[in-house]
Amino acid sequence: MSNKTFDQIPLLDLKEELKLIRSSILDHVSDVIDSGNYILGNKVESLEKELAKYLDAPYSLGVANGTDALQLSLKALDIGSGDEVITTPFTFFATGEVIAQEGAKPIFVDIDEETYNMDPTKIEEAITEDTKAIMVVHLYGQVANMKEIMDIAKKYNLRVIEDACQAIGSEYEGERAGAIGDIGCFSFFPTKNLGAFGDAGLVVTNQKDLYEKIASLRNHGSEEKYHHSSIGLNSRLDEIQAAILLVKLSHLDTFLANRQGIARRYTEHFTGKLTCPPAIESREHTFHQYCVELDNRNELAAELKNNGIASAIYYPIPLHLQEAFQYLGHKEGDFPISEKVAKRILALPIYPMLSVEKQDYVISVILNFLENKG
Ligand SMILES: *Cc1c(COP(=O)(O)O)cnc(C)c1O
Repeated sequence: MSNKTFDQIPLLDLKEELKLIRSSILDHVSDVIDSGNYILGNKVESLEKELAKYLDAPYSLGVANGTDALQLSLKALDIGSGDEVITTPFTFFATGEVIAQEGAKPIFVDIDEETYNMDPTKIEEAITEDTKAIMVVHLYGQVANMKEIMDIAKKYNLRVIEDACQAIGSEYEGERAGAIGDIGCFSFFPTKNLGAFGDAGLVVTNQKDLYEKIASLRNHGSEEKYHHSSIGLNSRLDEIQAAILLVKLSHLDTFLANRQGIARRYTEHFTGKLTCPPAIESREHTFHQYCVELDNRNELAAELKNNGIASAIYYPIPLHLQEAFQYLGHKEGDFPISEKVAKRILALPIYPMLSVEKQDYVISVILNFLENKG
């Protein structure tokens, strides 16, 4: 198939979206520059308020990035050396990294084949007397099986940290991702569904004591200037990023609806031919990624590339097989579902301004490939 129609279709293209918001963003950034107040000021406070409302979480704190949000959560829960934290091996590296960073041990639990998230039926066998928390990830924007996970956490008195970095606006039985467990963590890395023009992140919680702890921890463990009650981080959010995020937040629901519409069209065309992301009743998937699963994933990726269409693999190596985690002593076969999915998954272009013509082109290249080589 020739590629005369479009130059390239990237995985994510923010140029069209930028046209819509550019002048408003420049106005707000200009206000910040004139204010002379650049870190943890009015814009950050407004953003925290708006996002608390959006997520229906009582407390929210802007931080420097999503990784810090996760690390601050562990610190606030006093999790460290000698403790174990249960998490998924099928995620971005940061999820496991912060657990190790705090001196605790990541204990992996394999995923289920439907949601690609932690399989609740495998959690109980991973719990020991050192287990302190479950760090659950809502991968690609699909919320994990939170009812089962919260029930187990309650039974064993464990804390739940949600890595909702890919799931802003996603829902589970009417509750927003990140606002279900003890603490929810978000990333506003530029490619996320709500992206800043640099690094930024957020922590939400429904508990006042955790809110107060994290407020201090993000600022060197200090509540009063030059008095430090604990060892914290420099993880403050700056005003320019908050101003940009406030503008983008006002478009978020429209942009998420666009993603869902594109996902629906992809699924309509691919059902029965490829494994598509499931639409689960009473959950809202926000499609940070639209990933399909197939045997000859690498061949499809090559065919897409030949036709000017980008694709990507999230993630090619599960955490238990990462060099950095060799010290945990895992081997191939330990988490078979994660390993299998890592070999079969492929992310297709999806972004709010992906035109119908481009969607059609992606669909036709894929259907053509499946007819010939599927
Ligand atoms: C992006 C991401 C992070 C890290 O966020 P940063 O803002 O890049 O630090 C953590 N976990 C998951 C699942 C992510 O997708």
